[in-house]
Amino acid sequence: MNQTVYADIREMKKYALDNKVPIMQDEGIDYLTTFVVKNQINSVLEIGSAIGYSAIMMALANPNLKVTTIERDRERYLEAVKNIKQFQLEDRITLVFHDALDANIEGMFDMIFIDAAKGQNIKFFEKYENNLKEDGYIITDNMNFHGLVDKLDNEIESKNLRALVRKIRDYRTFLINNQNYQVEFLNIGDGIAVAKREEK
Ligand code: SAH
Ligand code: MG
Repeated sequence: MNQTVYADIREMKKYALDNKVPIMQDEGIDYLTTFVVKNQINSVLEIGSAIGYSAIMMALANPNLKVTTIERDRERYLEAVKNIKQFQLEDRITLVFHDALDANIEGMFDMIFIDAAKGQNIKFFEKYENNLKEDGYIITDNMNFHGLVDKLDNEIESKNLRALVRKIRDYRTFLINNQNYQVEFLNIGDGIAVAKREEK
């Protein structure tokens, strides 16, 4: 990558910080970009594009990679369109402006990356595993949710937050109990779950 690309990445990260857009943490993005290279992931379906940061980083890491990514927030979607253009990745990143809970995505992917509304992970998983290749991976971000997932319920003050944290715990249990996948939980960034589909 040349200096301009690095400067553009820095600018994108600054926009996220200034506008409180929860893009992946450095540790998480390092893991993800290494993962798509190491496992020869050439197609990704991403739920939750925000401003396109993680999609762009994956595409830059692996020149064979194509990403389809879904975002429901208009402002973020438009910012993502702008960023993808800036990196000239329009031919490898397809943005879908839609609520992922009722979008219709065609095609099969090597990997699905879930990084949207944290309370809906089971729904996203069950809907989009239909788009996952037989030996594909489903990766989920924010499994620790800023360390709250491992806290006692009475240590979390807000009721809404408690409910959300319970849903992330339920998702963790759902993954562990899912016989079709082998799952690993990594304490990287904000917590990453890697589920590999295992054909029986
Ligand atoms: N993956 C991005 C960060 C995504 S932040 C990165 O690391 O660069 C989560 C995004 O998911 C938010 O922009 C939010 O608007 C979007 N989102 C949440 N629920 C969604 C849904 N049901 N459908 C589509 N997008 C959703
Ligand atoms: Mg995230």
